[in-house]
Amino acid sequence: MAKKGRVKLVKPDWCKTCGICIEVCPVEVLELGQDRIKIVYPENCVGCENCELSCPDFVLKVVDENEE
Ligand code: SF4
Ligand code: SF4
Repeated sequence: MAKKGRVKLVKPDWCKTCGICIEVCPVEVLELGQDRIKIVYPENCVGCENCELSCPDFVLKVVDENEE
């Protein structure tokens, strides 16, 4: 079973809304807002880290689902 994780916005102001993280996410978690990415379905996150690894601007961080 896939490891469960939770995606967090650690540097929301650095997001340039390029949409790369949405393309690499295998499930529906993220959506583009007006000026930054939004976490719309956090419960869908499987913790794959694709978004964190692909974001050129270090906006996202994936943590264990039980972590604060
Ligand atoms: S960790 Fe994976 S499943 Fe979770 S938001 Fe990022 S790309 Fe999507
Ligand atoms: S990849 Fe990073 S900069 Fe691009 S939309 Fe996602 S969070 Fe924003």
